[in-house]
Amino acid sequence: MDAVQQVFKGTFIHSTARCACEVKENHILGTGKDGKILFFEDAHTQSRLAQKWGFDESNIQALGKNEFFMPGMIDTHIHAPQYTFIGTGMERPLLEWLAHTTFPIEDTFSDIENARNKYSAVVRRTLRNGTTTACYFATIHTDASIVLADTANQYGQRAFIGKICMDHNDTYQKYKETTEESIRETKRFVEVLKKKKYDRVKPIITPRFAISCSERLLNELGKLADENDLHIQTVMAHGCYLTNEELDIFRERGAAVSHCPNSNISLCSGHLDVRNVLNHRVKVGLGTDVAGGYSISLLDAIRKSIETSKILFMERSKNDWDTNDIESFQKGNMTPNGINRGAENIPITPEKNPNVLSYKDAFRLATLGGSEALSIDHMTGNFEVGKEFDALLINPDAKDSHFEVFSHIPKEKQSKSKIIDQTIKNFLFIGREQHKIELKDIYYQVY
Ligand SMILES: [Zn+2]
Repeated sequence: MDAVQQVFKGTFIHSTARCACEVKENHILGTGKDGKILFFEDAHTQSRLAQKWGFDESNIQALGKNEFFMPGMIDTHIHAPQYTFIGTGMERPLLEWLAHTTFPIEDTFSDIENARNKYSAVVRRTLRNGTTTACYFATIHTDASIVLADTANQYGQRAFIGKICMDHNDTYQKYKETTEESIRETKRFVEVLKKKKYDRVKPIITPRFAISCSERLLNELGKLADENDLHIQTVMAHGCYLTNEELDIFRERGAAVSHCPNSNISLCSGHLDVRNVLNHRVKVGLGTDVAGGYSISLLDAIRKSIETSKILFMERSKNDWDTNDIESFQKGNMTPNGINRGAENIPITPEKNPNVLSYKDAFRLATLGGSEALSIDHMTGNFEVGKEFDALLINPDAKDSHFEVFSHIPKEKQSKSKIIDQTIKNFLFIGREQHKIELKDIYYQVY
């Protein structure tokens, strides 16, 4: 086992460019000392692989009957300090919520000890929910933002940390920087993190939003990002009202969208037609947008993205409802909105209905889609050889699992792949955070 760190055998589920949710049964995956995937092949090649890579076949770790690996999930938009007041002040309109709740509480992160306690809670909680990569907004405070970076590194989470830049804020005067301060402190933040040389934690240039930054500040931040080859927080959160022309510009410029369905609903921002964004070949991932969104879980984002897609579909098709069709419905003809429309009978399966997002599409958004949106798809997002083995081990048979796998298929017609398909759906729709999290060398056993 010289070059090889670990070898696993069993079921792996991931997304590829061609397939939103590819199930690889009876596969064998090996990782190197650097945590990267060395091989990922059908298990019938086991002996050849053992010879080639020099590992002992008795060291292979076999997964249990219903266990599977999936890629760690990626939160493309989350405000770390806002986890501490989820659900507070949500009855207010956005700007009032920012002025009365968000800014005063974010301002308390000038106290490092306060930041340390709260950021530790955020990182542990996101990990328990299967978020192995997070793109964080912190606050305007440099030292507290460094604490968030240290914390993510300590727990092994991949993270982009954004010290917020904001030189305009008339709604809560106390919580802002001067232009000079913002530039100087952002430089210091980048310098400190560069020196720390964290493998998985990097700074990201983060203007809070356009109206809170002067043009001079935005220009200087752009320069700083160029000089240091840094990511810039340009993933557009929400984007509910992007026109087709704007989506074309997004594609041409390589800009991405972070779909935050919980926050879109909670803040009454609107519904993003994510199918249309995908049709324009724009990169899109999922975000919780805590605390605009009230859930820190990407499983919630998966479910809400499917629900949003169905709401849009219902809104569009409501004019097609025809009560005369009830007779036809009673004969057993059904369409997605429940009523038959005669010759236009659309199959109920989302895979065949391009308007509705399927659970497979949503799974892809939470994993590979997120890695593309953050431009880290060369290192994570699925189980391609050469990428890091950034994975969650899902075990529905665990004593404290939040879901069971039932099969309604008659025994003689049961196949392993049908059971796996049911297991994935159960996990995506009723899986929940685990109370304990174990970082097992390089992957997380979360559920
Ligand atoms: Zn946000």
